[in-house]
Amino acid sequence: MEMDVAGTVAEWIQQSTKIVVLTGDELSSESGLSDYLGLGLNPHIRDFRENKDVRADYWKKLKEIYPSIFNAEPSPSHLALAELEMIGSLDCIFTQATDGLHHKAGSNSVIELNSSMLWVTCTSCGKDYSTDEVLSLVEKGDEIPKCIECGSDQLKPPVSFPGQPPPHWETREAWIRLHNADLFIIVGASLEHEPVASFPFLAKERDTKVVIISENQSPADDFVDAVIYGKPSQVLTYIADKIKQGITIT
Ligand SMILES: [Zn+2]
Repeated sequence: MEMDVAGTVAEWIQQSTKIVVLTGDELSSESGLSDYLGLGLNPHIRDFRENKDVRADYWKKLKEIYPSIFNAEPSPSHLALAELEMIGSLDCIFTQATDGLHHKAGSNSVIELNSSMLWVTCTSCGKDYSTDEVLSLVEKGDEIPKCIECGSDQLKPPVSFPGQPPPHWETREAWIRLHNADLFIIVGASLEHEPVASFPFLAKERDTKVVIISENQSPADDFVDAVIYGKPSQVLTYIADKIKQGITIT
């Protein structure tokens, strides 16, 4: 990690009045969650809707994977960001993760760009359930859980399956927040796909400072104000400590 750059970023954080943060998979990995979406959990939406076997298979797989999501603990990255929200001008976190760990860490202002695995919606009547509640129906022997309200067996987490557009409200809200920000910090996120791929460039057009913290290179690295290659937990803990020191000294 480049400590000097991290120190400068700590100063930028203190000078900023509206900070937005984008997080992604690297934070989930730090909490021990493997890329469960990459494991082929989510089928194409058409197959899911039309084929009972696909739905049964989905719920069987989710039942196996879900305890690891539900029991995962926030990483030092999640905790450092929650701390920054408490002590500073962090306006909002957008996350690509669907594991709810920012909420668990105590962050209040979180936009889940890909929605959440922690709840399930009936696509027929709109009733929401906790994923736990639905999986307990699977536990009791329902291969495909049914909505208690309307009887439909078309329940699914609100995350986008292949063939579905990303959640609309979340993306729009993130754009609006980004428009008003003066510092945009991207931590452990993937910038490969739209709409997120455009976020750093949109911010630069508006003279918003942009910082990338990641173990991996990204297409935007050459266009932003600072890039720190390193483990998000290490970098964010270092930055949060710097800021706390600054607060006690002055
Ligand atoms: Zn229903």
